[in-house]
Amino acid sequence: MRILQVSAELFPLLKTGGLADVAGALPAALGAQGCAVRALLPGFPAVVAGLRAPHKVGSFTTPWGEGVDIVLGELPGLGTAGGALQAYVLMAAGLYDRPGNPYHDTQHNPYADNHRRFAALAWGAAHLAYGLDAGWGPQLVHCHDWHAGLAPACMAYWDSPQRVPTLFTIHNLAYQGCFAAACFADLGLPASAFGVNGLEFYGQVSFMKAALVYADHISTVSPSYAREIQTPEQGFGLDGLLRSRAAQLSGILNGVDGSVWDPGHDALLAHPFDGRKLTGKALNKAALQAETGLDLLPDAPLFSLVGRLTEQKGLPLVLGGVEEVVGGGGQLLVLGSGDTALEHALAAQAQAHPGRMAVRLDYDEALAHRIFGGSDVTLVPSRFEPCGLTQLYGLKYGSLPLVRRVGGLADTVVDTDLESLDDRSATGFVFDNFDTTDYRRAVRRAFALYRRRADWSRVRQNGMRIASGWEQSALLYRDLYASLLS
Ligand code: ADP
Repeated sequence: MRILQVSAELFPLLKTGGLADVAGALPAALGAQGCAVRALLPGFPAVVAGLRAPHKVGSFTTPWGEGVDIVLGELPGLGTAGGALQAYVLMAAGLYDRPGNPYHDTQHNPYADNHRRFAALAWGAAHLAYGLDAGWGPQLVHCHDWHAGLAPACMAYWDSPQRVPTLFTIHNLAYQGCFAAACFADLGLPASAFGVNGLEFYGQVSFMKAALVYADHISTVSPSYAREIQTPEQGFGLDGLLRSRAAQLSGILNGVDGSVWDPGHDALLAHPFDGRKLTGKALNKAALQAETGLDLLPDAPLFSLVGRLTEQKGLPLVLGGVEEVVGGGGQLLVLGSGDTALEHALAAQAQAHPGRMAVRLDYDEALAHRIFGGSDVTLVPSRFEPCGLTQLYGLKYGSLPLVRRVGGLADTVVDTDLESLDDRSATGFVFDNFDTTDYRRAVRRAFALYRRRADWSRVRQNGMRIASGWEQSALLYRDLYASLLS
């Protein structure tokens, strides 16, 4: 099967979150299942810089009259069996050649022409689906998140006797790509598309809604999230539409890319380790404590959080539970950036607890590896979580996840109790309500288990053993593609 994967990010070229990890890992995993995947990406500077042997395969003009070249090149190491991934890149300097974050300027203001930047991505996908590259055409287009959300709409209105089906994957329904109604004129779609049965959403244009209306199938990154987004609590106003499409909506869990995340062969760890030999883990912990200014306490449980510092990720709970962690004799380490108020509150707490709490307001891929490799507990107390990758990295690196029972967290972590300890299914700590009381109780349970060293080791082993790669998920995607093609 020939699949075109359309996304705004792809690790290691460009990453702001889990979307990039998925887009970077999926082509090789699908390749192992017999799919021939090519990627389509906007020509952001980091993408252009990473592309090898680019050559132009064609060009098109956007609805607002801007010329876009499509080049095809190679991304070494990201394809089947460690080979190169063939990637199409949209070359339009006026749209994409801006330093830094792909979506907003240095003041965190979204670019005013974002609707054009991602409409071009959508039209690029449609042109490739319908013959722009004489040497290769996809049988199916797999679009990721709102950035690629307009593609199913552009393809639905393409004048062609044969149809190329589309799959749209929601990585986070909270980010919808909404723009003023006036932007619709730039999109190149018939006027009828701007209505309640099209991409109009409360008077605005929504790229997310475009995908949910026009894609042949919708997937999310966990089965629980696929159910949750059909409820008013988690539907962000789109739950009714999602319920109406329930027959074409399913969830496939993300996996862990073992070529990037493997504690036994992680070049970013000073002391690699595996489930059988964990001495390296203790050495990594000492090095992490030294690096981040935490007291060198080998027996203090080290709680960590790596992620966007937002309410979604449960930072208010983490702040409300600082005393529980520090007062109980533990340590807390946070790596991330995000809401200014949360950043300030975390920094203030770290200042109030020197040696016991440290905060790095940064985006640092290598430090993230060292944190999973050296910490004892990975905190992911999210309000909602489509899949979540950090709890999976925590599992694999022997840092027990402490998570809220929601979305992909509910699907990937098993709470520790006598029964799950006994049948070896326990992998971490799970709490139910998004409140500080429930969160603190989970922290106390983590302390209690930490004092029972044999049980702690057993749960850690369970997690390291079950931590899954991409094989199973790639099989499910392959079967889904096949069903859409049949
Ligand atoms: P989301 O996509 O909602 O941000 P995920 O858990 O799915 O959350 O994926 C987040 C990814 O980004 C993980 O690979 C995580 O390690 C990484 N990450 C998030 N924040 C940082 C940071 N400050 N430094 C390094 N890596 C980070």
